Amino acid sequence: MKRILSFLCLTFLCATIYAQDLDRVLQQISKDSIQYNVESLQSFPTRFTFSPYCREVAFYLKDRMQNYGFEVEIDSFYVENFIWGDMEESCSMYLYNVLAFLPGYHDGRDTSFFLGAHYDDRSVSYSLDDSFVLAPGADDNASGVACLLEIARVWSKENIRSKYGLRIEFYSGEELCFLGSSHRLDSWSRTYPTHPLGMLNLDMVGNNSSDSIHLEYYDFCEWLTNLALENITTYTNLHANLDQEYIERSDSWIFYSWGLDALFLTENDFSPYYHTPQDSSIYLDYEYMIEVTKLATSIAYDVATDKNNVSLDEAILENAIKVYTQENTLYIDNLPNQTQEIRLMNVLGKTLYQEKYPRTSHYSNSQILKNIPKNSILLLQVVTPEKVLTKKFVR
Ligand SMILES: [Zn+2]
Repeated sequence: MKRILSFLCLTFLCATIYAQDLDRVLQQISKDSIQYNVESLQSFPTRFTFSPYCREVAFYLKDRMQNYGFEVEIDSFYVENFIWGDMEESCSMYLYNVLAFLPGYHDGRDTSFFLGAHYDDRSVSYSLDDSFVLAPGADDNASGVACLLEIARVWSKENIRSKYGLRIEFYSGEELCFLGSSHRLDSWSRTYPTHPLGMLNLDMVGNNSSDSIHLEYYDFCEWLTNLALENITTYTNLHANLDQEYIERSDSWIFYSWGLDALFLTENDFSPYYHTPQDSSIYLDYEYMIEVTKLATSIAYDVATDKNNVSLDEAILENAIKVYTQENTLYIDNLPNQTQEIRLMNVLGKTLYQEKYPRTSHYSNSQILKNIPKNSILLLQVVTPEKVLTKKFVR
């Protein structure tokens, strides 16, 4: 009896300590601090993707994250003769992602959760003259970056040491066809040994009209969507607007297309000033941003500390599998050793190709995609003795 009692007490105590820990972390989130972050970013006259200020912004963000104890890498890449949309002339320049990492104490595997926000902006037209001069981008997307910087601050202040690693990443080039996040994942697929748990993207989270927020959810990522739904009620006064209308409109789409579980937070009604020279810090609602930061913090905390201690093994296994295409070749990396079959299907569930006992773990096949149009959304099913894993990707 005594044993049972002490077991119950211990369980209760652990649950209580856990809740208190997270509550204490969330209480540290500061309006002033978030506002300071937005204003600091806005103090660069423009963060247009091809403005020379972006390099300064990247190094500023690097310093900030290093001060919070993160390992930080500037991920630079050269873009040559880039032209898109109504751009009047092409641009060639180095762009800079900022990748910050705090390792977990787990068994040495590089398992981590991603928080991401783009820091570049543009003004109303693609005319280089406009955007080169003034693009303050307070809502789009200093707001998302500001919330992530605040998460880094409280994470560091509370000295959180989580089971899994936390990655906080700031991307350039989102405004021009997701250049930054695409580069990030492109180089990663070749070299990166990590097991990603999922990606939470914040883009435009400062304009409040109804205390609501879009939870832009992706198919086959239920555990992440459900966690967000649970935490929005438990830890914030926001209302969730669960939909998929904007899922292709920010960096999380790239992560999702490359096979990661993802979720995207964005304000319910878009700021009337975004992509204009009036997108200023004075129009943001910092109380609202506290709530958004609480939501993002609680999700990152629950995943990184492995609160539920259940679904993550599957998430790790599933997320570790990387699916990507080049021309007509389909590549699948990190197929589980026990894979019995792979199936390629269209979104209606029609099987387009299947193969039993594919050679693992780096699989490629140059014939499969020949008759499938580019940009098709496809499903890859990986059948193992225990389960069927399904990943969605874009051809
Ligand atoms: Zn944006």
